[in-house]
Amino acid sequence: MTKEAKTHYEVIVVGAGVAGIYQIKRLVDLGIDATVLESAPDLGGTWYWNRYPGCRFDSESYTYGFSFSRELLDEWHWKERFSSQPENLRYLNFVADKFDLRKHMQFNCKVEAMQFDETRDLWRVKTGDGRELTARFVVLGIGLLSAPTMPRIEGVDTFKGRSFHTFYWPHEPVDLVGKKVAIIGTGATAIQIIPEIAGKVADLTIFQRRPNWSAPLNNSLISKEEMADIRSRYDEIFAACLLTPGAFVHGPDKRGFYEVSREERVKFWDKLYDEPGFGIWLANFREIFTDEVANAEFSEYIADRIRRRVKDPRVAEKLIPKDHGFGVQRVPLETHYFEAYNRDNVHLVDLKETPIERITEKGLRTTGRDYEFDVIIYATGFDAITGAYDRIDIKGIGGETLYRKWKDAPQTFLGMLVHGFPNLLMPTGPQSASASTNFPRGIENGVNWCTDLMRYAWDRGYTRADATREAEERWTAHVVKMYEMMLMRKAKSWFTGYNSNVAGHEEGTIRYFVYNGGTPKFVGIVNEVAAKGYQEIAFSSGARAGQDATRSRVTA
Ligand code: NAP
Repeated sequence: MTKEAKTHYEVIVVGAGVAGIYQIKRLVDLGIDATVLESAPDLGGTWYWNRYPGCRFDSESYTYGFSFSRELLDEWHWKERFSSQPENLRYLNFVADKFDLRKHMQFNCKVEAMQFDETRDLWRVKTGDGRELTARFVVLGIGLLSAPTMPRIEGVDTFKGRSFHTFYWPHEPVDLVGKKVAIIGTGATAIQIIPEIAGKVADLTIFQRRPNWSAPLNNSLISKEEMADIRSRYDEIFAACLLTPGAFVHGPDKRGFYEVSREERVKFWDKLYDEPGFGIWLANFREIFTDEVANAEFSEYIADRIRRRVKDPRVAEKLIPKDHGFGVQRVPLETHYFEAYNRDNVHLVDLKETPIERITEKGLRTTGRDYEFDVIIYATGFDAITGAYDRIDIKGIGGETLYRKWKDAPQTFLGMLVHGFPNLLMPTGPQSASASTNFPRGIENGVNWCTDLMRYAWDRGYTRADATREAEERWTAHVVKMYEMMLMRKAKSWFTGYNSNVAGHEEGTIRYFVYNGGTPKFVGIVNEVAAKGYQEIAFSSGARAGQDATRSRVTA
């Protein structure tokens, strides 16, 4: 039977990104009858879609890769400390090919709706090509930043030149040489694109609503010798990641901010500023995240760095955030970003002074003037964390929709289960630690936990696993509490569910999207739940006419 003709699986995995790839590997190894449904024409998730110039991760490459296979670790050479999109996509393809996973994946297969069949304890999954599939369990590996949002500005469709959201950057090369280009937004994505294209285009105009704090990535190549050394230390590196809150190699400084003299603090920050990666954010004093005074002093240190790098003091001031301190939003790391503004062909438009009125046929109009462009790049971000879930019509017990349940804020158990939506697993769901940490480290942890839960149910013949309402309420309250001490709760960012382009997500609404307790605490809690036999989850085996769980475990 072709995979397209088959209609029942024990497990359907949605999404063939980092999470989906690892989840199907685990299921295939266990001999489970499973498939991956992916809306894109190929695997890779984030790394399939985001093809914009300069796209790379801020995680050290060797902490981003999968840790599950010694052979894989030995075979793959990360060429840069912070690897770029084309290489990351090659890596994920290499993994899929090495373990022959592609045959378990169905591409161009968008999941549009899912409904839990209460009489059979199955999910009925409707795909864009008109099929209905069933599965005992559905694992959603649909990404946390995978629902791009366009600005709600009039006239977007009227522009006669080329325009695209960065997530949908065209697959064929986009020739920007000699072109007049606009970029809207100055988040992590724009901060990567701007220095990459500034020297190629004729003219680059950046439309900025709010600046972001940013510090140098300090990327470098990884030689064969260095890679050999990294390989010999992989166990140590992965173990170290799991001991830090963010699952990176960078853990907070052990000293208290106030225990150290101002002079020593500055010396320490000078060192961090020149080091690669997130050290400047995550290896800093803990108080940076929680104490207004400490945060303000460090923010001023970074502001001064910006002033030293940007020649025009008026431009420098515009690039320094005034509405939030360093690190309370996700910090983008940059490579020569601030120097791009020293170029004569790069112009910064402050949208607070002259907001965009509309996109026009030839460019755009602000309250100040009309602009003409060949290309408009929308670097306007994502309906983060819950956006991809909201875009699937998911109906649980009694026909309740997940969209409605999460309308004001997500409610979950451990960020991996939702009461009333049995057998639905989210290895990196909202309110999990995976949502705010070095993603693949969180993904492996989440996938392993979800897989163990399914095995627990299979081994005991259970056909339904549903987190209790009380457990969900306790977890959600705990997630909210973990925000209390964090300065980030006051910032307008995707950590708090802010997005001006999504109805209901504008200013004033806080959504408790991520778990701020850190990786060690999160891993400790979820492992304890498993070790104690999942007391917070109601199991049953009441499926009336369901498929026999044990029978359908054999891979077709
Ligand atoms: P983002 O951080 O949400 O930035 C979106 C930008 O667009 C903001 O500057 C925003 O301004 C602006 N914007 C949105 N709507 C607008 C409108 N209607 N008019 C004018 N400006 C508008 O999105 P992103 O840069 O795509 O990054 C999202 C996340 O993806 C990052 O936080 C990061 O987690 C991840 N990412 C990671 C990397 C990496 O690993 N290096 C690279 C790229 C992205 P406001 O701030 O005023 O809303």
